[in-house]
Amino acid sequence: MRMLSQGDPNRRVGVWKRQVRPNGRVSAIVSCPYCGAVITFTAYHEVDLAGGVTPGVQCPNKDCKFHEYVKLMGWIRQQA
Ligand SMILES: [Zn+2]
Repeated sequence: MRMLSQGDPNRRVGVWKRQVRPNGRVSAIVSCPYCGAVITFTAYHEVDLAGGVTPGVQCPNKDCKFHEYVKLMGWIRQQA
């Protein structure tokens, strides 16, 4: 389980930022803790009340081995 703190994924490695999907669902983008690539969750990713993300998150960068369960520290689901 990888703990990610809140921040700007375009500027910092290993952080998350809230993102509202076009369908109105609240989700998040994260930056890879290894290479810094910005990762958008798939439609299958769910964030629970405590910020736990399922299924595991995989870096889209083919040269990067990051593939772990992540937890979004400070996540409050109700906040849009
Ligand atoms: Zn990566």
